[in-house]
Amino acid sequence: MKEIKTTDFEKEVIRGGKVVLDFYSTECPPCDALAPKFEAMSELFGADVKFFKVFRQENRELAEKLGVSSSPTVLFFDDGEEVGVRLSGGIRRSELFEGMKCLLGVEKVKQVKKAIEPQETSCDVAILGGGPGGLTAGLYLCQAKTNTVLIDTALPGGQVATTHQVSNYPGFIEPQPGYMLSHNMSEQTKRCGTTYKVAVDVTHVDLEAKKVIIDDFETISAKKIIISTGTSPNWLNIPGEREFKGNGISYCATCDAKYFVDKEVIVIGGGNSAIEEADFISKFASKITIVHQFDKLQANQQAQEKAFANPKINFLLEHEPRSFKKDGAKMIVEVEELKSGIRKSLAADGVFIFVGMKPNLEIFKGQLELDQWGFIKTNEDMKTNLNDVYAVGDVRSKKYRQITTAIADGTIAAISITRELGQ
Ligand SMILES: Cc1cc2nc3c(=O)[nH]c(=O)nc-3n(C[C@H](O)[C@H](O)[C@H](O)COP(=O)(O)OP(=O)(O)OC[C@H]3O[C@@H](n4cnc5c(N)ncnc54)[C@H](O)[C@@H]3O)c2cc1C
Repeated sequence: MKEIKTTDFEKEVIRGGKVVLDFYSTECPPCDALAPKFEAMSELFGADVKFFKVFRQENRELAEKLGVSSSPTVLFFDDGEEVGVRLSGGIRRSELFEGMKCLLGVEKVKQVKKAIEPQETSCDVAILGGGPGGLTAGLYLCQAKTNTVLIDTALPGGQVATTHQVSNYPGFIEPQPGYMLSHNMSEQTKRCGTTYKVAVDVTHVDLEAKKVIIDDFETISAKKIIISTGTSPNWLNIPGEREFKGNGISYCATCDAKYFVDKEVIVIGGGNSAIEEADFISKFASKITIVHQFDKLQANQQAQEKAFANPKINFLLEHEPRSFKKDGAKMIVEVEELKSGIRKSLAADGVFIFVGMKPNLEIFKGQLELDQWGFIKTNEDMKTNLNDVYAVGDVRSKKYRQITTAIADGTIAAISITRELGQ
């Protein structure tokens, strides 16, 4: 693998045959997460494909010419033509393999994958999930000199990374951008010595044997496992939702509100997330209609008062959405008035859905004891029903799900583990 500059581009890339190009920056955690994967790919495919790195800050003109606006961005070239899908953000190994298929074909990539030697890593503690709960556990564990591996299917940070502003995290006078708070938490835990395996595919988890397989071929064996996989937004599961997800329907205001400048938006839900996010969306949109099933909002008083005082926000209470359709670029939401059963259609430019969260537990398939809502039961030390398996944060059965409660859980699990390991 070689580092190239703008002046090498014509020779090495345009006339270079099959090429993979990684635009990276310094002080870029997703670039750091990609680096070992990119290196490993270059070792696997180096005989057939050239792998180059380009330092984006020093080669701005080239980046701009190619339309590369974030780091890392990986591009695939075949005989001077860009092929396949550009990758950016938390890039997984599986996505790189997909890209290689465009260059070398499905069979060749299959063949190379088959020849990969399985790897095994041993540690004291494997943490699954790098949100506030997992990161805090990692911090305490590494400070106690416990050999800890933190595994995340995405980049670390959890839900905080996509929260616009956090105003209730102690220690800051002013509200903090969520991405900065999560970045600081993640860097603190990493610098302390926790090993990160992030933006990976978690292929299999055996909680009894304490083995986690990532990216199909790497097994992480631990003495103890902490589950901190958090939650994901609930779906309404009504017609049109799946079809228009990402194309008119969003579950993340921080990610998508910016696309609705001077547009009309419908927000579904009446809890804290819905009301606080509606307020954030109102910085961009011209009109927001909140559709909520009850006659009162469920959000806390402060959030409600702010929303009621916001001239851009309207309320449609005691209504439930029944289906989503599209009319040209407009989203059409069919809503039902619950008292009368009368249905009507609302038109908007976009829809945001905030109707609660469900625990991320698919990978554990029936291995754990859960409460009636499907969250993991633990004792006071965060121990689950399985020996040496702990659960912390939003994924755990508890009443209040906040950053502070997740980090408290992470602290308790880590101290409890440290004592048990005699460290
Ligand atoms: C819109 C919104 C706004 C919020 N605002 C606030 C606020 O202002 N203040 C506040 O205190 N709280 C707020 N919260 C709640 C807060 O974000 C959560 O309570 C907190 O993030 C929970 O932390 P966690 O570590 O349990 O899980 P999460 O933050 O959800 O992190 C879970 C991590 O696990 C990873 N993961 C998932 N599945 C797997 C798997 N199979 N293997 C490995 N990793 C996996 C995910 O990628 C993620 O990084 C908000 C939540 C939302 C949705």
